Amino acid sequence: MKIASVIVDVAVMQTDRPFDYEIPPAWEDVIQPGMRVIVPFGPRHVQGFVLEIKEEQESRKLKPIVEPMDIVPVLNKELLSLADWLTAESLCFKISALQVMLPAAMKAKYSKQIRVTGFAPLSLSVQSLFNGRDEIAWEEAAEAGALSEIRKEVKKGSLDVLYSVKSKGRKKTVRMVKCRLSEKLLNETVQSMPKNALKQVEAMQFFLGRTGEWIPLKETGMSSAVAKALIDKELLEEKQEEMYRDPLAGRTFTPDTPLVLTDMQQAAIEPILEKVKEEKAETFLLHGVTGSGKTEIYLQSISEVLKKGQEAIVLVPEISLTPQMTDRFKQRFGNDVAVLHSGLSTGEKYDEWRKISRKEVKVVVGARSAVFAPFENIGLIIIDEEHETSYKQEENPRYHARDVAIWRAGFYGCPVILGSATPSLESFARAQKGVYTLLTLAERVNDRPLPAVDIVDMREELREGNRSMFSRNLFDKIKDRLEKGEQTVLFLNKRGYSSFIMCRDCGYVPECPNCDVSMTYHRHRHQLKCHYCGHEEPSPNVCPECTSEHIRHFGTGTQKVEEELLKLLPEARIIRMDVDTTGTKGAHERLLKKFAQKEADILLGTQMIAKGLDFPDITLVGVLSADTMLHLPDFRASEKTFQLLTQVSGRAGRHTLPGEVVIQTYTPEHYSIQLAADQHYESFYEQEMQMRKMGGYPPFYYLALITVSHEEAIMASSEANKIVMNIKPELSPAAVVLGPVASPISRINNRYRWQCLIKYKREPKLGAVLKQVLEHYAKQGKSNGLMVSVDIHPYVLM
Ligand code: ADP
Ligand code: ZN
Ligand code: ZN
Repeated sequence: MKIASVIVDVAVMQTDRPFDYEIPPAWEDVIQPGMRVIVPFGPRHVQGFVLEIKEEQESRKLKPIVEPMDIVPVLNKELLSLADWLTAESLCFKISALQVMLPAAMKAKYSKQIRVTGFAPLSLSVQSLFNGRDEIAWEEAAEAGALSEIRKEVKKGSLDVLYSVKSKGRKKTVRMVKCRLSEKLLNETVQSMPKNALKQVEAMQFFLGRTGEWIPLKETGMSSAVAKALIDKELLEEKQEEMYRDPLAGRTFTPDTPLVLTDMQQAAIEPILEKVKEEKAETFLLHGVTGSGKTEIYLQSISEVLKKGQEAIVLVPEISLTPQMTDRFKQRFGNDVAVLHSGLSTGEKYDEWRKISRKEVKVVVGARSAVFAPFENIGLIIIDEEHETSYKQEENPRYHARDVAIWRAGFYGCPVILGSATPSLESFARAQKGVYTLLTLAERVNDRPLPAVDIVDMREELREGNRSMFSRNLFDKIKDRLEKGEQTVLFLNKRGYSSFIMCRDCGYVPECPNCDVSMTYHRHRHQLKCHYCGHEEPSPNVCPECTSEHIRHFGTGTQKVEEELLKLLPEARIIRMDVDTTGTKGAHERLLKKFAQKEADILLGTQMIAKGLDFPDITLVGVLSADTMLHLPDFRASEKTFQLLTQVSGRAGRHTLPGEVVIQTYTPEHYSIQLAADQHYESFYEQEMQMRKMGGYPPFYYLALITVSHEEAIMASSEANKIVMNIKPELSPAAVVLGPVASPISRINNRYRWQCLIKYKREPKLGAVLKQVLEHYAKQGKSNGLMVSVDIHPYVLM
């Protein structure tokens, strides 16, 4: 008999292994590894992934597969073995590793129906619920509060519960019609049709000269009723045609041609093209200052890959996946490009994925998860802004796109390009050691100078009586740009602190009742909101502690900056970009377009404007407060500050007009601010490496973070203690175990959080030990209310 080993869609430890199912003879030739199938599991039907097919001589008693969900495998052999690797690396469930590779639309959708069996009579109340139907949805019974009644009936055998599994993804279809007549016959028919059927005559006339051609019903202009009448008369034929939802519909791209590379770009691209030609895996770290022409190198490398009939994946951080960025790929490669980002609807993402899967495109430009694009002949993988922490997924499976890219490149024998103006310390250290090959673009294209940077000490401003959020230096420069008709970008770093409210008399700050964090103030609704659990409440007008009326909004939100700016410079035209103004679909793009068309003088925004902007008339960049991120409880705080400041500064003077940057700060002496102003990556690297060495942090040590949470603080801390006691003896003396301590955010959603950080260099047993810890708590199940998570190579230490 033929047997399929299947991973089922039930993410608990006990089911984290393949189960055997019989393949019914009817599907012997259909079911293949990498397909989704529906299988019985306990009383239910669930989705499963076929890992392999086995042939056994003796038959044994197995449940049969209910039915396949795919006609062709959705995961190829390579992706199936990538899932093995991902499971082992990130200690996740196999099912999570398989599911993360597919678009959300392909996740199973489960539904329950309740059906009358007819074996026994129904009680009166259930009869009235069914009201003559043989089947109702589970939800309907639940809403009617009839579940316990239903349960009794199921026991009696009068009702049965049916479980069904569906794919969420719906293909979009259009109705097409075709004239069945020959041209000659159509002519005669139109002549002879009764004159009172005017609509039908008109409809048929449409097909003159177009017989035999499939045409979308919409284009013919006829109504459904007319179409139906003509189809019934067998004059027309109809069909449903599958169609892609095109996220870029209606936009045209002017094709562009490759630029002549500068000598420096030429020197950088040659080693890459060599590996493309040799089909050898190698990881390149392309370190190029902002505006040095990295993107052109990506484009020309991809060209070579396409010429060889191979495919390319380009990863871009979600936040810089702007139309400006994707257009550059569309302009060069036209319809060969698929774009995947979070702004697409579930259906649109599904359609883009299918285009990739069917090899109808050759290039994917997308955010983190695009690294799983189901290509089968990959010739190049590019990760732009490789230092971005958004490449690490913060939920299971906790993978880093860079590691996945390097794994896939190893499989296909192709190069990986990691590009950045500010590489992560980990990557630069690997390049120094020769694990990656370093390629450098030290200057901007065409000798455009890097912008001149001024650091302004805001303490000094205050001492001299300037209480505004703009230093005199920055204010004068903004004014100057307004007069000259040049553009300014103002950057407000909101990560780390958001606008909160505080009582000026007693210092009270409202905190979330469920989490130990202060709540964010939302001005337009006068509400306080917790960004961890979503709790919302009205903002108080008097202090709940001391009843003072001096409780008000603090922190400089973008709205506040905008207001102050308008007070000082009423004539300025400002575009504000933050979560409030970019919430709707396409808003981001619309605002940037307005700015590009010079409908505004100042672009004011948060993180989202730090990257990728390339407008010719930006000659001034102002950073309102450089140090908000510097004081976070995170060993990467300096690195993140350096990266952000360098990125923002890189927006100025990218074209013919020279650029200036003003960085306002309360800690002007800090090396990450000083060196960002000098645009001196290597010096920053040297200095930060020393700090990391002293602190025992990456890239000198690897990290693993264990977090334990429970509704009672004492439970969380004592279990965290137990875990540490159990792990310590298993590790070598070189490993360092920090904690357990309360997490920096010590409570989220009413659960107290304790953590323990393991620093290690080489601990071959660690993976197995941590897996044991997870298994131990999984076996106990949810009964004791403990939750334990393990994050290998964590980026979020809060
Ligand atoms: P990066 O990605 O390193 O920030 P870009 O690729 O965006 O840099 O290039 C910066 C600017 O220089 C862009 O406007 C780009 O069109 C231009 N550019 C890049 N390479 C060349 C070249 N070889 N010749 C002329 N202009 C170039
Ligand atoms: Zn108070
Ligand atoms: Zn909360």
